[in-house]
Amino acid sequence: MNKLIDNFGREISYLRVSITDRCNYRCIYCQSEKKFEFIPHQEILRFEEIVEIVQEAANLGIAKVRITGGEPLVRKGVVDFIRKLREIKKLEDISLTTNGFFLSEYAGKLKAAGLNRVNISLDSLQEEKYKRITRGGSLEKALKGIDSALKAGLLPIKINTVLIRGINDDEVEDFVRLTLGRPLNIRFIEFMPSGEELKNNYKDKFISVQEIKEELIKKYLLNPIKISTANGPAKYFHIKGGEGTIGFITALSQHFCKTCNRIRLTSEGKLRPCLFSNKEVDIKQAIRNAKTDDKIIRSEIIRNNIGEAISIKPEGHKLNNKFSNRDFFKMSKIGG
Ligand code: SAM
Repeated sequence: MNKLIDNFGREISYLRVSITDRCNYRCIYCQSEKKFEFIPHQEILRFEEIVEIVQEAANLGIAKVRITGGEPLVRKGVVDFIRKLREIKKLEDISLTTNGFFLSEYAGKLKAAGLNRVNISLDSLQEEKYKRITRGGSLEKALKGIDSALKAGLLPIKINTVLIRGINDDEVEDFVRLTLGRPLNIRFIEFMPSGEELKNNYKDKFISVQEIKEELIKKYLLNPIKISTANGPAKYFHIKGGEGTIGFITALSQHFCKTCNRIRLTSEGKLRPCLFSNKEVDIKQAIRNAKTDDKIIRSEIIRNNIGEAISIKPEGHKLNNKFSNRDFFKMSKIGG
């Protein structure tokens, strides 16, 4: 098995692929309320191009792929796309991150096509608040989506909860209780500097997961555990008698750059080795400029571009919760 090793000795085995910048929600921490300028369709990578890139990435040592967006389930043909990815023998794990809206319709089909598991974003368990955070989303649909994913066996299911002070930090215990009766893995995620609405008072809205954990420890006995698919940034805990787990992702307060094993492929076809760095490699342009169907030439171009992206992966980011406005980035464009 080949290995992709970067300049700092890290093995890069995980590719996060954004298949669209479009989303049916406009979460306050992710998108602007104003009309969104979407990337023109012809600039979005075609599914065949993505499969070709992932195939080469897998040959080089990528073992896990996560499909994200925008909202990946708004893109037509997503089930067939997953089926094609599944044909890539070297891929061990294919997962997808979704807001859950379309999951009751898609969970069974995605599982049958070869998807292993899903992460579902859920930032409130209160209908009105959920609507406010997602700007019009349906909590009912998200909860039904979770039920469907459980039924379809898209396991383990991870629930992503971005904590924002004064908005949903009062619901932490409600989320924790979700893990008691069902095999759900709740991950509390630190709010990163993206989204227009919260731009001006980011520092007030940021809450470290350490603070959340300290509060929880006063009431619950949190036993550290390892879960099989978790070699990512989250640290997991289990409450005695509970069926699920609780995880904490400290993207900003404690960087996990030292163990970062991932690169991203944006929906417009750029390889981005670090979420927080603007350095990108334009793999789409490289393939399209080649103007050839010759498999060997295309394969070499893709390999070279992946190699270049790995070579410019920074050692780490220096960001913390003391951001200036220029540090804000468009998560929906890059793919969370
Ligand atoms: N539409 C899908 C969804 O809602 O899960 C996938 C795309 S979304 C950009 C992927 C993940 O990024 C979500 O779990 C979301 O909560 C997270 N995310 C987006 N903006 C964020 C921010 N500013 N801070 C932390 N997490 C963020």
